[in-house]
Amino acid sequence: MQKLEVLRGQGARVFVVGYSVLGRPIYGVFKGSFSGGQVLLQAAMHAREGVTTPVVLSMMENYLGEAGVWCLPMVNPDGVLLANEGISSVDDEEKRAYVLDINGGSEDFSLWKANINAVDLNVNFPAKWGTGGQNVTYPAPGNYIGEYPLDQPESRALADFTLKIQPRITLSYHAKGEVIYKGFECADPYPELAQSLGESTGYGVFTSGGSAGGYKDWFVTTTYLPGVTVEVGESAASYRELYAQAGDIYARNAQVLDICARFVQDIFNG
Ligand SMILES: [Zn+2]
Repeated sequence: MQKLEVLRGQGARVFVVGYSVLGRPIYGVFKGSFSGGQVLLQAAMHAREGVTTPVVLSMMENYLGEAGVWCLPMVNPDGVLLANEGISSVDDEEKRAYVLDINGGSEDFSLWKANINAVDLNVNFPAKWGTGGQNVTYPAPGNYIGEYPLDQPESRALADFTLKIQPRITLSYHAKGEVIYKGFECADPYPELAQSLGESTGYGVFTSGGSAGGYKDWFVTTTYLPGVTVEVGESAASYRELYAQAGDIYARNAQVLDICARFVQDIFNG
């Protein structure tokens, strides 16, 4: 919230694109120009990957480019709070019992990925939905696809917002592993963007395989435009430990928005 205030002070627009299952706002931030190609940057879709929120907010704070950049810094606020603060963050008694049950009675939610309905938002999009290698069809801390695509308010808010602003590039920040994924199935539009991002960050670049139902997957197949997933943070660190490395992670990603801003005008102009 402090970083949102800093951004507001810089003249950025701060707004709400929707609400989580527990009614928490899903914030958006905008910087740059409404005309020309737009970039959408989103983070913390997975509960345990909350480190991506301060990273993308630092990227926004330091972005001074012309191209319009829209950022949803925390798509899954209920999940991030559950992973960080535990069961006391859930003020709905029924949901509290529900997530405890799904977590096998354990109060350690530090590895939770899903939202508060135990749906994994990044397998809830209509792109070969339900065909991913790790998908499960029952509520779980991770990998549950939901009853139907976009049946969760958080995934629905992100999809609706994407359709509204029609970005030419999307960046999805996840943790961890220090790798970049591009493309989906046979589609690999503008591979040179991911290549440039790989050179700038030092992260290895791979073409996605074996996953389905992800936000990037949906964006790439429906638009044939570049959607890139960036997995930040060393594999060896725990998700909690990554928070202490947010500054270093930002430093490695400091050029990402400028690179996207350059590419997006070329894509927009065809
Ligand atoms: Zn993730």
